[in-house]
Amino acid sequence: MFNFDLLATDAGARAGLLHTPHGEIPTPVFMPVGTQATVKAVSPRDLHDLGATIILGNTYHLYLRPGDERIARLGGLHAFMGWDGPILTDSGGYQVFSLAQRRTIDADGVTFRSHLDGSEHRFTPEKAIRIQENLGADIIVCFDECAPPDDHDYNVQALARTHAWAQACKAAKRQPDQALFGIVQGGVFPDLRAQSARFLTRLGFDGYAIGGLSVGETKEEMHGMLEVVTPLLPADRPRYLMGVGTPEDLVECAARGVDMFDCVLPTRTARNGSALTRTGRINLRNARFADDAGPLEEGCTCYACTHFSRAYVRHLIKANEILGHHLLTLHNLHLMLTVAREIRQAILEGRFQAYREAFWRAHEQAA
Ligand SMILES: [Zn+2]
Repeated sequence: MFNFDLLATDAGARAGLLHTPHGEIPTPVFMPVGTQATVKAVSPRDLHDLGATIILGNTYHLYLRPGDERIARLGGLHAFMGWDGPILTDSGGYQVFSLAQRRTIDADGVTFRSHLDGSEHRFTPEKAIRIQENLGADIIVCFDECAPPDDHDYNVQALARTHAWAQACKAAKRQPDQALFGIVQGGVFPDLRAQSARFLTRLGFDGYAIGGLSVGETKEEMHGMLEVVTPLLPADRPRYLMGVGTPEDLVECAARGVDMFDCVLPTRTARNGSALTRTGRINLRNARFADDAGPLEEGCTCYACTHFSRAYVRHLIKANEILGHHLLTLHNLHLMLTVAREIRQAILEGRFQAYREAFWRAHEQAA
């Protein structure tokens, strides 16, 4: 039911095909984020049209509202949100540590208060797995602690918890049609990252997530951690870099052996009135776009760019019209999905290094 075929490698970069009960996922892949059982401002029909092959749901948010048991009664997350393709749910760990209030951590789990209404809740590894079984995603992940990246002593303690919780999650998993990913942690410390990759690989998972990056460390630190971790992970399992990133990150992290990416950036920047482009971000609120008849990005084949001008999208954003958010979201997701597809094609054809160089040359010319 769940299988990963590694089809080609080009230096460190990999092209593969991930088989799940709800369909195949060509990798490298970008996964749009559907925090509240919706990818903000677009429908599942739009996502199919954009060529999205997998989307992400957030365990913490869906547990609090509308409730994982309610979603289970309504047929699971696929039926509830009308998306028939593959879904990955996170474990709630990241949100518990970044969003929830008044947390207390112990060896067995975390007690916290909801950011919505202050009510008290407790997540344990077993609870995180039960919630994800109720949601019914194709890929679920272990409950982990996302620690501040640059505190070594704290990361030693957090890593011990994360590893114990990974064992507990593996023991608690019951559904054969769900794949379980372990999460490599360890902050910006090569020794801890290597220890984590080795520990989780020995335990054995269907895939490996790399968490706790893109949380404030430098790009060099992030790349350094990937260079430590990915060579230690089994080649025949997918690697998922959590919460990353930009088109530039896709190119540079795919080069370091990452297969799967997710980030709220394309949808969040759209709601802030900005378009992502291959050479950086543009803010449509800027007055210089008021009379600009050109598309959001020259050469883009998305619906927004082939039908509307920067001037029009700017007008929609200025007038706070929801179509503006919709069009910018379509464009931003199209860009991320297209760059991932281009990377994959380049790897399959053995010209990834040339693609990577051309990508950065375009950057330099635009700068
Ligand atoms: Zn476009």
